[in-house]
Amino acid sequence: MKKNLETICVQGGWKPKNGEPRVLPIYQSTTFKYSSTEEMADLFDLKAEGYFYTRLANPTNDAVAAKISELEGGVGCVLTSSGQAANFYAIFNICQAGDHFVTSNTIYGGTFNLFGVTLKKLGIECTFVDPDWSDEQIEAAFRPNTKCFFGETISNPGGNVFDIERFAKMAHKHGVPLIVDNTFATPINCRPFEWGCDIVTHSTTKYMDGHATQVGGAVVDSGNFDWEAYADKFPGLTTPDESYHGLTYTKAFGKKAYVTKLVSQLMRDLGSIPAPQNSFLLNLGLETLHLRVPRHCENAQKVAEWLEANPKVAWVNYCGLKGNKYYDLAQKYLPNGSCGVIAFGLKGTREDAVRFMDALDFVAIVTHVADARTCVLHPASHTHRQLSDEQLLEAGVAPDLIRLSVGIENVNDIIADLEQAMQKL
Ligand SMILES: *Cc1c(COP(=O)(O)O)cnc(C)c1O
Repeated sequence: MKKNLETICVQGGWKPKNGEPRVLPIYQSTTFKYSSTEEMADLFDLKAEGYFYTRLANPTNDAVAAKISELEGGVGCVLTSSGQAANFYAIFNICQAGDHFVTSNTIYGGTFNLFGVTLKKLGIECTFVDPDWSDEQIEAAFRPNTKCFFGETISNPGGNVFDIERFAKMAHKHGVPLIVDNTFATPINCRPFEWGCDIVTHSTTKYMDGHATQVGGAVVDSGNFDWEAYADKFPGLTTPDESYHGLTYTKAFGKKAYVTKLVSQLMRDLGSIPAPQNSFLLNLGLETLHLRVPRHCENAQKVAEWLEANPKVAWVNYCGLKGNKYYDLAQKYLPNGSCGVIAFGLKGTREDAVRFMDALDFVAIVTHVADARTCVLHPASHTHRQLSDEQLLEAGVAPDLIRLSVGIENVNDIIADLEQAMQKL
């Protein structure tokens, strides 16, 4: 029976058998016991299926991964210890030294740095493109060694909406998959696979957890990209892996080739697994995702409209506002709401932004977004401080940008707090 999203949030993943715990148990164990050497050997030879070491698979992690895969409509999902690890694995699974990929330039600061600095040290180059450019301008970035195209459904912190269908077509025209970081939209508001995207990533640290209790990530495979059709571009998937029984992933695992390689090669060798305890916490968050996300959006819409009407505010970027540059794209991809994150700037100096933030009462300054509690951050002084002014603008982050993550408190209280802080300017 195909279930609706709300039911998957509550019931997906853990399916207890008779007499088993109703609630997903925390299998906080590194290892799993077998009574004979042969049974254990069969696991290593892939002759039998079973758990043997938590770096490769753990029942708590697997249940939560299955829920996220079902929410996105994928064939498989791997949980990672952070969103950073998820984006690293998503790229590194199909790129090696000498390869190249194309990425939107309006992406999370940590991802911008991972792609532009750290992957470069591994010999993987990327070209940053502005999604607002014309097709010709963006297509000029593709090279014979390009292996994927990357973007964020709703960019953090700029709030730009990514034209998934347009960019999926473009990626496919060049024989590569589209990878979309769907952290801010969550599968409640957008399922990128329905628009042609091939791989989805998440920082589960944000709305999926929703309570700021764990750092985690996920990579979900749609199973739709035809790796064999471009076999020479993706030898890691289409030729035998000598480190894994000489198996060829596409032949042995079909639609699950990408996600299986990610676990059996990258997780095995690099090992960014989440603690089962963290996956348990993430699962509790997921159980209410479908209730929280609409409230975040409803509150954010009211706050964005209030900010827009406020004479002390210079500009507001929220794709739910009519007249916003991304309003039409949001109507297409996010008809039920986008997210709770608003970017805005105050009239005045950078110091005014800081004074405003320091005057807030329960709206707290924290390095976080997208949880139940309303919070605020100044990217130029916090998350993005490693970027130069030029890079800041390239990443779509104005120096005066205040990122307000609207929570699920009473919206009148949120507005009252913003108002009293603005009165002190
Ligand atoms: C926070 C975030 C990340 C990084 O995730 P961590 O869990 O903090 O490692 C990646 N992408 C987006 C869009 C994010 O908001």
